[in-house]
Parts: sequence; C-alpha cells; structure tokens
Amino acid sequence: MLRVNFPRLKRDLAELAAIGRTPEGGVSRPSWSDADMQARGWLLDRIAAAGLTSRVDAAGNILGRWEQDGPAVLVGSHLDSVPNGGALDGALGVLAGLECLRRIKETGVSLRHPLELVAFTDEEGAFGGFFGSFAFTGCLEAKDIPRLTDATGVRIADAMARHGLDALQAPAACRNPSDIHAYVELHIEQGPTLEAKQIPIGVVDAIVGIRRFGITFRGRADHAGTTPMTERRDALLGASDLIQQGRELVLAEGTPASRLTVGVLQVKPGAANIIPAEVYLSYELREVSGAMLRTLADRSRTLIADIATAWGLTVSIETVVDIEPVPLADEVKAEIVSAAEELGLRHMRLPAMAGHDAQVVGRVAKAGMIFVPSKDGRSHSPMEFTADEDLERGANVLLLTLLKLAGTA
Ligand SMILES: [Zn+2]
Repeated sequence: MLRVNFPRLKRDLAELAAIGRTPEGGVSRPSWSDADMQARGWLLDRIAAAGLTSRVDAAGNILGRWEQDGPAVLVGSHLDSVPNGGALDGALGVLAGLECLRRIKETGVSLRHPLELVAFTDEEGAFGGFFGSFAFTGCLEAKDIPRLTDATGVRIADAMARHGLDALQAPAACRNPSDIHAYVELHIEQGPTLEAKQIPIGVVDAIVGIRRFGITFRGRADHAGTTPMTERRDALLGASDLIQQGRELVLAEGTPASRLTVGVLQVKPGAANIIPAEVYLSYELREVSGAMLRTLADRSRTLIADIATAWGLTVSIETVVDIEPVPLADEVKAEIVSAAEELGLRHMRLPAMAGHDAQVVGRVAKAGMIFVPSKDGRSHSPMEFTADEDLERGANVLLLTLLKLAGTA
C-alpha cells in the first residue's frame, strides 16, 4: 500500500514554519504580508521541484496540477495564519497535499481524475476571510472587494497591488463546478475531542454555521449619584442580563455543539459617574444543524426584545454574519472512513466548530475533511501541536482518500 514519505513532509513543515516565525515559537503570516509572500514563493518553488504545473489565479490562490484533462480531485488548505498562530493550521493541509501528489506522481500510478493542489488566499481573515475560496467558487463579487480592509484600514486592493495583482479581477478565479470532482482538506482538529478519546482520525461530518448579531441597547445617560436605583434606564444592565440569559437559553435549548460567545462590549459614554446610555455587544451563535441555528437565533431575538422591555431600553439588532452550516459529502466521508480502515486506524465522526475553506468549496462541490488530534485542543497559538505519528497517520489517510477519489485507472 502506498505511503507518504513522512521525513520529506516533516522537512517541508519545518521549512515553512521558519517563514514568519515569532519569538514565542509561533508563526505570523497574515495574507499578503511579507512573510505570506515569502511562503508563497517557497511553495511555488516546491511545486515546480515536484514536476507539477504551478499557477497563481486571479485571487492569488496557488495551484499545482498534475496535468491531465477532466474534473480534478482538489487537495489543500491555506498558507496564511493568524498573528502569532501555530505552524500547522492550514500549512498541514497544503503540505500533506503536496506530499501526496509527489508520492503518487513518483510511483507512476495512473488515475482516472487529475489531482490538483490548492493553497487558498486569506482563509484566516486578515482582510475578512475566505477571499480565495470565495473567488474560486464564484461567491465573491467585484463590488464587495473595495471595502475589504485589514484591522489597520489597508484595503486588500492595495495590498494585492503591491504584489502586482488587481484584486478587482479576483472573481475571474471562479472555477466551473463541473471541473471539480471532489475537494479534500486535512487539518488539525483545533479542539480537544480526538486527543481525549485517543482516536487518531476524525471524519468531519459538517462545518459549523455562524449567526453573529451586533446588538445595541439604548437607555439614558443620567447622573450616577442623583438618579435613584429604581429609576434608571441603564443599557449595561440589559446587556449583562442578555449575556447571562443567552447562555442559559443555549444550554437549555441547544445541543452539545451549540455555542454562544459575547466577545465585544462597548459602553457609552464610558464614564464612571454616568449611567451607561448605550451598549453595543457582539452575540455570536454557532451550530452544525441549520434548523437548530435558526431556532436559537429566533429565540435569541425574542429574548433580546424581552430584556430591552424589562429594563426600559430600546434595542436594535443587526445581522453581521450569516453563514449556514455545511454538511460534507457522504461520498468523500465514506472514502475517508475506508482509507482509515485499510490503514487499521480508529476513526470517529465529528463536527468542525471553526471555519474552513472546505465549507466554501462544499457549497459547489463534493468536499470532505480529515482531522488529526490537537494537543490540549490548542490552536491559533504558538502552543499548537500535533504528534508526528498523528501527522503521518493523517497524511496517509489523505493519500489513500485521494487515490480512491481519483480512481486508479
Ligand atoms: Zn485553518
């Protein structure tokens, strides 16, 4: 049975991890940064050295194809990272994909479908996230591109122009779905489940949907000393009530995969001796069931309105993010399971609670994801770690899955 050349994959992972390395031992490679550009150049060299045809599309996605006509089996992930993130998030999927293509090519196996490696642009969201996969799948519109900026206000159009690319042309990266036979992404779990259960392979069932509201409670700014406790319209009391009751709602009515996070709270006027007149908070729900996500979002809206009334406030609710959960393709899941079984590896189905390029590609093509354990579930941190044997197992499951999907001729 064909296996990856793991020492070669390890060397690639180490070389890429050195690009954008931080003093804490993590990596900082936000999209279109100097480190990202260096990583892109490095990957293009690697693709060429493997004898694959490399190409950079209009969205900056890096492609490496083993030339052959017909709908391709795509494999990949992303090279960019969050600031001071880990060395495996994204990188593992790209480099294990490269190793699989190299290994299959050098053994001369002939396949019914071509194989194509892809490293998507800005998965992590320096400029909003999923820029490359949105463009690739026809979900990016030119009119939305000018307002994509990073945290410091730099437009993606200017960041790409620095490297000779016209961001407004990115929608031209759109691939005809009939050119994609399937997409597979190997990724670290970024959660604690596989490690806790000591199961080396996760077969991702569905990718989490996200509903994020921006909520503004408005009350009245009054004197902190002269206004009696019973006569206040304190917007922060409404917000804090919602944080508590929202949590109880999700615990009581959600599933074990339901999440609620309030990560932003802005209090105005923000003075110690003035009753808070206005509070903005983010309210983010995550769920893998679309029906449950809708239920929780609807129940939350009712709760928010009730709380505003109870505290004498007005409230406005804006939907900031609305991403449906994406179930992954049964056919790809079945091939991953059969690959794991042929390799004698235990496996389990589990949801992906973070966003991934596979959820975007999965809207237009059959997509699947393989998870390997993350030590202590840590990710988006220099503490991110997966043991070598788990990396190797995951890469071998990816290799067999690709062979099955591409079909040996
Ligand atoms: Zn990732």
